[in-house]
Amino acid sequence: MAYAYCDHNAGSPLRPEAAEAMARALALSANPSSVHAAGRAARRLMEDAREQVAAAVGAAAENVVFTSGATEALHLALEAARGAAKSLILSAIEHDALAEHVPHAWPGARIAPVTREGVVDLAALGSLLDEAPKPALVAVMLANNETGVIQPIARVAALVREQGGLLLVDAAQALGRIAIDIAALDATYLVLSSHKAGGPQGAGALVLAPGAPFRIAKGGGGQERGRRPGTENIAAVAGFGAACKLADDEAARVRALRDRFEREAGVEIIAQSAPRLPNTSLFAPPHLRAETAVIAFDLAGVCVSAGAACSSGKVRKSRVLEAMGASPLAQTNAVRASFGWSSTDADVDALLAALAQIKGRRDAGVEAA
Ligand code: PLP
Repeated sequence: MAYAYCDHNAGSPLRPEAAEAMARALALSANPSSVHAAGRAARRLMEDAREQVAAAVGAAAENVVFTSGATEALHLALEAARGAAKSLILSAIEHDALAEHVPHAWPGARIAPVTREGVVDLAALGSLLDEAPKPALVAVMLANNETGVIQPIARVAALVREQGGLLLVDAAQALGRIAIDIAALDATYLVLSSHKAGGPQGAGALVLAPGAPFRIAKGGGGQERGRRPGTENIAAVAGFGAACKLADDEAARVRALRDRFEREAGVEIIAQSAPRLPNTSLFAPPHLRAETAVIAFDLAGVCVSAGAACSSGKVRKSRVLEAMGASPLAQTNAVRASFGWSSTDADVDALLAALAQIKGRRDAGVEAA
């Protein structure tokens, strides 16, 4: 690679083991719903992948519903819960995949605030739960994509269960980075994305707790036990399964890289004292706005993001940093570096060198925030 890739939260490069599993699956080219030998071979491969995904989160394979990614899984969870839940509460830092969908899908949803460290405010969530029509569906992500802050899901679950509610946990950024156990989290619905964990893009899963309500909303073929009709993408799920098998095997090495960056960066690190993913660093270079800084990093051969990655390439104000009441400097300048299985010390060297150059630009009078 000619560049230092420090943007694993936007998408982790495909792991070689996932690419191999995909190549094997592509060679099969049969519909897994077909009853003939070729179809059965495709189904076997898909069911092996389902076991691998289930094992990564401590679930039963029959409770893994393959989707096209975390976005679809989040939307599917809202539909699944619709018959059982009378209200929706989501945290102020949920990903756009959910937050932008909710005003259309579930008007009148309530928003739970977060602390300055980017952790969901449990007291405020408790009050919202008291007021909301019951049972409520509560959506709190396991780890935030911008800050990496890990949410106290077991404590959220205790509040939700006290009121007979359901819990939706977006674990898209957690998979492959920290251990996940659906029972320990006490989540009703758990959402996963393949490409954040070194699997291919366009694959993900909605994982259900035993007995989770599931209102089947869509017609169509009976795939995924009728819960998500449409022929499954066998190659993508095979790659997803292979990536899950490797989940969090690099966490200690990745944490050491991230920690070295933060020790040597000499800039404000956002939410540094909160429990965070081992791979994520959100920092604020003092003299450049984030959109300019990202270009400067890119010119130096380093791939990073300005807060959340945007499909349009436009940089918007971060809802997450706003909800946290982050400093004005953080809100305009925050840049995210995120590491993963392919990251090396050379990537951190390049990131630090580029940051030093950017910090020097103020002295040269090039740009001010
Ligand atoms: N949830 C979180 C926390 C994410 O970071 C992302 C992707 O950035 C998504 C959901 C959407 O995932 P996908 O690209 O698989 O639809």
